[in-house]
Amino acid sequence: MAVDATQPYDDQNIFAKILRGEIPNRTVFEDEWALAFHDINPQAPIHILVIPKGAYVSWDDFSAKGSEAEIAGFIRAVGHVAREQGLVAPGYRLLANAGINSHQEVPHLHVHLFGGKALGPMLM
Ligand code: IMP
Repeated sequence: MAVDATQPYDDQNIFAKILRGEIPNRTVFEDEWALAFHDINPQAPIHILVIPKGAYVSWDDFSAKGSEAEIAGFIRAVGHVAREQGLVAPGYRLLANAGINSHQEVPHLHVHLFGGKALGPMLM
């Protein structure tokens, strides 16, 4: 079910639980700013979710309220994971849903990292 990304952060959301270690995940990278783990329902051979450690619902929430260090750390983490997964030369796709129209399902900011095959043109 899509979430209304204008609502306050809900610390019972599944990614908050993953960050607190209450739900297992297949971690590929973690540092002070971000956690990256395999999506439970992959849509490509490589489908990783990268989330900031802070309590942000969406990209706009994060960009408005996140500190410079959090934002820089998160963006660096996304790039680091892409490089570490060997995706730079073949290419990859980043996607961040926000709110009802995008069908965001988890109200904690996450960037989908897709790769491992030719992804084709972006479809709406
Ligand atoms: P959204 O539609 O952009 O919010 O994407 C949410 C993503 O989270 C979907 O691709 C789900 O498959 C993924 N997901 C939901 N629960 C879990 C989990 O427990 N572990 C890993 N991925 C999850």
